Amino acid sequence: MGKFTCNRCRYKFTMKLKDKPPLTCPNCGKQGTVSPLPDADKIIKDSDLY
Ligand SMILES: [Zn+2]
Repeated sequence: MGKFTCNRCRYKFTMKLKDKPPLTCPNCGKQGTVSPLPDADKIIKDSDLY
């Protein structure tokens, strides 16, 4: 399950696709604004506070 976010409207969603984000945002319909969202566990591991 991949998590994605739209850089334009900040809409967050999940899809069953693993690597490829959808070309268009399901919320605003804009193309090329969707990028993968890192998992919460990954953020914690990357943080120096942990
Ligand atoms: Zn959007």
